[in-house]
Amino acid sequence: MARLLGSKCKLCRREGLKLFLKGARCDSPQCAIVKRNYPPGQHGWRRGKFSDYGLRLREKQRLKRYYGVLERQFRRYFQMASNAKGNTGEQLLSIFERRIDNVIYRLGLAVSRSQARQIITHGHISLNGRKHTIPSALVSVDDIIEPGKKEKSESVAKSNLELSQGRVIPAWLEFDVESLRARVAGVPGSDEIKEVVPIREQLIVEISSR
Ligand code: SF4
Repeated sequence: MARLLGSKCKLCRREGLKLFLKGARCDSPQCAIVKRNYPPGQHGWRRGKFSDYGLRLREKQRLKRYYGVLERQFRRYFQMASNAKGNTGEQLLSIFERRIDNVIYRLGLAVSRSQARQIITHGHISLNGRKHTIPSALVSVDDIIEPGKKEKSESVAKSNLELSQGRVIPAWLEFDVESLRARVAGVPGSDEIKEVVPIREQLIVEISSR
């Protein structure tokens, strides 16, 4: 008998995107999307057509859900991206990707972004040698990220690394698994981000610039 999808997996299906909401399961063949072999494509899983406005709005929601960001914060990031030099959409993706909760997730020190936020707020992460408790902070080149000095912080990191084995660490992050120490080696590029986050950022810029 077919198993019913959990509500988190239903959300992924609705958004046409792996949102990585269920921890280690999301990286495994047990992921509902992998198992059920849903057709690829950003909007192929939902019947019916979207208006131009609806399509753009949906793309924005997908980005916010993927990184677990609310509207107010989204607006702040969009403003930052608009003020930055270069392509606004690419800047926006780079800002989202540089959130420290996302970095902790990408390194495999958390099994999901929501867990990463919890680990950070509970004081288990150190940024440049000091305890850091703000999940929305953005990292910069040469920042050093590692578990806090408490024994518990290190054991949480190690057990999550076990569960996250196989997660590909992006090139802009250098990670020494032995010392659990990571350095931000560069700025995440939009091509690199879009390999793992299939988002059409131009649609988001179009709706957010109105
Ligand atoms: Fe479920 Fe897969 Fe989405 Fe994780 S990524 S919440 S397992 S559908």
